[in-house]
Amino acid sequence: MSVRTWKKIITLVVVLTIISLIAGLVVSKIRYNNLAEEFDDALSNEFIVDLSQYGNLDETELEHLFDYLGNLDTNETLEYQSKYSDLYVENDFEWEDHSDEKICYLTFDDGPDSDNTARILDVLKEYNVKATFFVIYKDYKSERELYKRIVDEGHTIGVHTASHNYNKIYGSVDAYLSDFERISEQIEKTTGVKPEIFRFPGGSINAYNAAIYRELIAEMVRRGYTYYDWNVSSGDAAASYVSKADIVDNVLNKNKKLSKKIVLMHDGKGHGTTADALPEIIEGLQKQGYKLEALTKEV
Ligand code: ZN
Repeated sequence: MSVRTWKKIITLVVVLTIISLIAGLVVSKIRYNNLAEEFDDALSNEFIVDLSQYGNLDETELEHLFDYLGNLDTNETLEYQSKYSDLYVENDFEWEDHSDEKICYLTFDDGPDSDNTARILDVLKEYNVKATFFVIYKDYKSERELYKRIVDEGHTIGVHTASHNYNKIYGSVDAYLSDFERISEQIEKTTGVKPEIFRFPGGSINAYNAAIYRELIAEMVRRGYTYYDWNVSSGDAAASYVSKADIVDNVLNKNKKLSKKIVLMHDGKGHGTTADALPEIIEGLQKQGYKLEALTKEV
């Protein structure tokens, strides 16, 4: 081939490379911009983050999160993005406004526990009410059967982490993902269902994850997962013993004006009074006009 032909070929290759590089940058920029917009919607929705729940979350922190997402360096390839290749879920979730409806989502964290979770499932069945369980890693047969019972009886199972060890899971994004993969696989293996929603231990922004929460939230949303905090706390974990009456009172009378409530409760060991309180909570909420439903990523 002549020198001219070679020059032409080289020019063509260089031009094509430049075009594909620019196209790649534009595409990833668009994706991250959309992500930042989604975040803006999600965080302004009372479901996802209720500012009053977090002593250490203020408007400035929230602005930092938006800034981070808006200015993500899309050239940077983060190591953890290429790891945990099964931790992706389909998600074309869009917020819908059901403002005329009163809906309450009962959620139970830290289970399953062979006593309390079983009792709670019995009550939910009796009242024909669906709820959401954010579970941790358990390996006894009786507890694995409870993962299965939650799913078989029509409730939503979500991830709450395997270890529930704040120092461990919030040490790095990679540490969180590794823990998440362990519990996600355990749930899928025992129930046949891959969890698509989750709840961060301590809420999405807390004293333990301050250094990594922006990267962590961005990465989990990028993988398609939806997370839920809460806007009503039952207070059932506020002390080693909380009475049934206090739990009922907190759930029925806190943030009474909200049309959408996500109630935080616990079904782990030592939360017998939560199970005791459940019938009165269900009856009370229904009397207040709330429909009781399970969370899904499409809520
Ligand atoms: Zn927890």
